[in-house]
Amino acid sequence: MSERERVPPHSHCIVCGAAIPEGERFCSERCRREYERRRRRATLTHWILAGGLIALGIVLMLRGV
Ligand SMILES: [Zn+2]
Repeated sequence: MSERERVPPHSHCIVCGAAIPEGERFCSERCRREYERRRRRATLTHWILAGGLIALGIVLMLRGV
């Protein structure tokens, strides 16, 4: 039996990678907040990029006619 198989089922904090009970996603409230912060920023970046592409499309459309 390998070392890995003897370890009881567990998950890892998706922010810092610390071992946590199975089914959990974060090791602490701090990591949960950090994750929310990163996700908000990623969403914001996504919308800025989408907005830029739409604006570019409109500009090209207006110039093309
Ligand atoms: Zn953590």
